Amino acid sequence: MRIVQIPLLRDNYAYLVVCEDTGEAAVVDPSEAEPVLRQVEKEKVTLKAILNTHHHRDHTGGNPGLLARHRLEVYGHRNDRERIPGLTRPLDEGDEIMVGKLTARVLFIPGHTKGHVAYLFGNSLFCGDTLFTAGCGRLFEGTAEQMHGSLNKLMQLPADTLVYCGHEYTEKNLQFAMTLEPNNPKLAEKMKKVRSLRSQGLSTVPSTMAEELETNPFLRWHSGEIQENLKREFPNLPTDPVSVFARVRQLKDQF
Ligand SMILES: [Zn+2]
Ligand SMILES: [Zn+2]
Repeated sequence: MRIVQIPLLRDNYAYLVVCEDTGEAAVVDPSEAEPVLRQVEKEKVTLKAILNTHHHRDHTGGNPGLLARHRLEVYGHRNDRERIPGLTRPLDEGDEIMVGKLTARVLFIPGHTKGHVAYLFGNSLFCGDTLFTAGCGRLFEGTAEQMHGSLNKLMQLPADTLVYCGHEYTEKNLQFAMTLEPNNPKLAEKMKKVRSLRSQGLSTVPSTMAEELETNPFLRWHSGEIQENLKREFPNLPTDPVSVFARVRQLKDQF
């Protein structure tokens, strides 16, 4: 398997997932068509499918342009039948899909939207706008309970899982994380690494699940430091995981 990251729009990432045995490929979340078509040509692969994680335009905007040029299957959650342009293969939790000889497992992870899925190829996770490097998506259509459940599901994946998310938001996310957990040494370390990458114009994605568990404030509802800092501002805040998560999400919305 080969994965090619394609930066699109201002800060989106699409990905080509290539089966090296067959030369067949799928594109994850094409915001726009032209740069994807150019990359397909450059990689000399045969584009067979679009894998949409959710219906937002910055993840599906390229569907019509790609479908005008190629015969493609379009995958997405069944809740988004009416919202994903050209959807041919409605999916749900536990489904398996093939790209050439590669298999991906579909994880249903609602919260950002009500039809959000992730695609897991081996240890490579394509999780759209649910889990970001050091962050998570806004709750546009779902509840904090749902998003917490979805993130919790992703946290159960092996520590070496590579997290390919939908946006380059890492530096801003880390700035926010620092306000809640300034004494977390892993966070300082990560910030240093990320600033260095960004100053060279390089991508900070993928990260690993191990790094996310150490640094992502949306996965760290158990952190004593986060809880203490929240308690200072919100003395009556319950410390159950969903309440802590919901408050952290709310603070990030205002950050
Ligand atoms: Zn989105
Ligand atoms: Zn997005």
